[in-house]
Amino acid sequence: MTAMLPDLQPSADEPAPLKLSFSKIDVYQRCPLQYRFMAVDRLPTEPTPALSWGSSLHAALERWWDQRLPEPPPVEVLLEALYESWDDTGFADMDRQEKIRWYRHAQEVLRRHHEQHAPHYRPAAAVEQWFDVDLGNAVRVRGFIDCVVPTEGGGFGIVDWKSSRRAKTREDVERSLQLAIYALAARELFGRDPDWVALEFIVPGLRVAVERDRIDVESAIAQIHEVADAIRAERFEPRPNRLCAWCDFRSLCPAWEGSDGPDVPGQAVVELQRLRRRQERDAQRIAELEEIVRQRLGDEALVELE
Ligand code: SF4
Repeated sequence: MTAMLPDLQPSADEPAPLKLSFSKIDVYQRCPLQYRFMAVDRLPTEPTPALSWGSSLHAALERWWDQRLPEPPPVEVLLEALYESWDDTGFADMDRQEKIRWYRHAQEVLRRHHEQHAPHYRPAAAVEQWFDVDLGNAVRVRGFIDCVVPTEGGGFGIVDWKSSRRAKTREDVERSLQLAIYALAARELFGRDPDWVALEFIVPGLRVAVERDRIDVESAIAQIHEVADAIRAERFEPRPNRLCAWCDFRSLCPAWEGSDGPDVPGQAVVELQRLRRRQERDAQRIAELEEIVRQRLGDEALVELE
């Protein structure tokens, strides 16, 4: 039996309206079947420590930036916001000590964020700004912009906070569909383009900003229409990918029927190559560090380290 698409209301002569967010589009592009389980069948998903941790950090940042005071609010405001908005759902089965480690790490990340931003603080123009943009052909794209910051020339920049451990490259950020959607939304909301858009990786403390003219909004609109057409055509095939291991629906997925799942040897080869590259990098670094220790402390120090 085919489930009814909840976002669609069938009509005789025009396409049914479809409301998409960046995360839904992202899931569809990665795996159409995962999108179907999540957005059409609306099957429940399990909270994870990483998701709860990320949403706790987001809530704290949102509270701090939303004060919009002329002077930077003290770090205590940020830490108190973390305490009050801590999302415990993903940590339910976790040992208490381990949970404390996650919490302390969140505190560290926020302290660093404060140190980084307080010295040249400017109050945000908007925080968690809702948008809902009509892209034509009954497709809407909607969501929240984390933070809109004023720039010196009287314009503004757009920031999306990321809680992943690793930052993306500038090239990745330029190609980010999410930022293209925000640039589009900003034009709709504020009547002008932002000066720049940025992904801010709060764990390494790195804001990767790109000028607005490096963002291809037209191609983003085309991509969204392509996804919308595929959803309307109910194209929901499984597309195994490197995130299958974390997919909530793996037990229901035809691509994972049987014990081995799809192309396990292929995935093993890719991971093995990655680990070998890392091993080579580590070996190189170990040799460099040994040389430093040998020169400064002598061979005996190296023997003691073994
Ligand atoms: S297990 Fe992989 S292929 Fe199957 S639905 Fe999830 S993401 Fe898609």
